[in-house]
Amino acid sequence: MSPDAPWAETDELRVAKRSNPQIKSYVRPEEAAEKGVKAVLSHDDIGRHLTSEMFFSGDRLPGFSDTIEHPDGLVLVDTGMIDRTPAIEDDGEEWHPNPLPDELVSRVAVVVNTHLHFDHCGGNRLFPGIPIHVQRRELADARTEDDYTVREWVDFPGATYVEHDGEAEILPGVRLLPAPGHTAGHQIVVVETDEGPVVLGGDVGDSFEELERGDTPGRQLVLELVAPTYLAHVAEVRVPHLRS
Ligand SMILES: [Zn+2]
Repeated sequence: MSPDAPWAETDELRVAKRSNPQIKSYVRPEEAAEKGVKAVLSHDDIGRHLTSEMFFSGDRLPGFSDTIEHPDGLVLVDTGMIDRTPAIEDDGEEWHPNPLPDELVSRVAVVVNTHLHFDHCGGNRLFPGIPIHVQRRELADARTEDDYTVREWVDFPGATYVEHDGEAEILPGVRLLPAPGHTAGHQIVVVETDEGPVVLGGDVGDSFEELERGDTPGRQLVLELVAPTYLAHVAEVRVPHLRS
């Protein structure tokens, strides 16, 4: 939490923080409404985790999953990779899975897939019975298009997909927005924080240079949000701007 947040010193919040150390900066929605504040989350509630690495002719491409420590439960955005299959390595790419720690996996209450390419959904199998939010179009394409993903990593025993046709608020302050381009069913996650919106952008761009071209509807949307943006394959977080 930033020290100048208007609710920083309320007794109520101090008590809440003591009684639940997991929740660093939660303001109950009713309390927030009274104070005219919509945000229930802080930027510190967003975490990054390296969940895959790909090596190709000397280059390394990291893959990150993001978490949101929401008062209603831990949200995981993209599940990275937990293993390999020969099918993904026949074009010279060398993929290294980097599974999330068990402690984190056990706390996940909600999963979001920005899209279903295998390096974003390879860990979905760790979450049978846990709601996995995805755009309906994305799931349909993953199930029907050739060479789209590793289909067994998408559909597994206990897979519980929640399909969306467009925008959805899945928890207070956590919204899904369709951001097509990289795939037709690609979506981003917008987290409302006390410092404004934060974008978890998945593969809306492989790099900020690519994102800042603004040449897909998804990239245009993210540029219009003018918010700190996380990209799945870039360690740095920044506010992107359209390149002229
Ligand atoms: Zn992708």
